[in-house]
Amino acid sequence: MIVDVKDVRKSFGDVEVLKGIDLSVEKGEVIVIIGASGSGKSTLLRTINNLETIDSGEIWVDGTAVHDPKAAHNVHRDVGMVFQQFNLFPHLTALKNVTLALRRVKRMSKDEAEKVAMEALAKVGLAEKAGNYPQQLSGGQQQRVAIARALAMAPKIMLFDEATSALDPELVGEVTKVMRDLAQEGMTMLVVTHEMGFARDTADRVLFVDSGVIVEQGAPEQIFTAPSNPRTQQFLHRVL
Ligand code: ADP
Ligand code: MG
Repeated sequence: MIVDVKDVRKSFGDVEVLKGIDLSVEKGEVIVIIGASGSGKSTLLRTINNLETIDSGEIWVDGTAVHDPKAAHNVHRDVGMVFQQFNLFPHLTALKNVTLALRRVKRMSKDEAEKVAMEALAKVGLAEKAGNYPQQLSGGQQQRVAIARALAMAPKIMLFDEATSALDPELVGEVTKVMRDLAQEGMTMLVVTHEMGFARDTADRVLFVDSGVIVEQGAPEQIFTAPSNPRTQQFLHRVL
């Protein structure tokens, strides 16, 4: 088991956003999280990456107690995250966007960082765009640079939070292709997405989250063809 989330609760003010989440993720598993806007999907991913603290429960990532403020220091090294907004530095080339954390966090030499970064850019099909600035790249290419930036750090898990939601429809496929390739290579992935095609053909397990609760989970065939919970049925009826 590489991620273990145990009875996690999280409130913002008076509003409880995660109401006792339990989730165990095996190494190499691809989990797709679906659910309505505001149901707590992003908050769940962010707690795993220690971008949000939790009120109670436990979160373990490869043996590190993320919930423990004294022990959670290294989780960013193990967990890569890709957001809806690509968050690239506009004044840096694609290559520099990828080398930055390698230099600063991993303390690599310039040559070593560039070698690792070029490998990551090649992996997302953008080796020849290494010298381009973000505004010289399409949205899909920018998101692939953001994925390369995360991959270059050699994470044990990748979190994707609506990574294709800001893209024009014709650019979604090039990003989901990179995600499919990663899944195929055995990367452990937690993916929040509205791309039901991706969920169907790539997920090992689909979780449906409603109001801070995982109300149903199962293999994609089961969730998409025979959801047992009425709230899952209603949600899928709206989105499919
Ligand atoms: P989802 O990703 O499923 O759309 P979120 O996890 O972003 O849901 O949000 C769940 C709920 O928590 C929403 O009601 C949202 O407004 C609230 N929320 C999220 N982040 C914060 C925050 N930093 N401060 C206050 N409320 C927040
Ligand atoms: Mg969200």
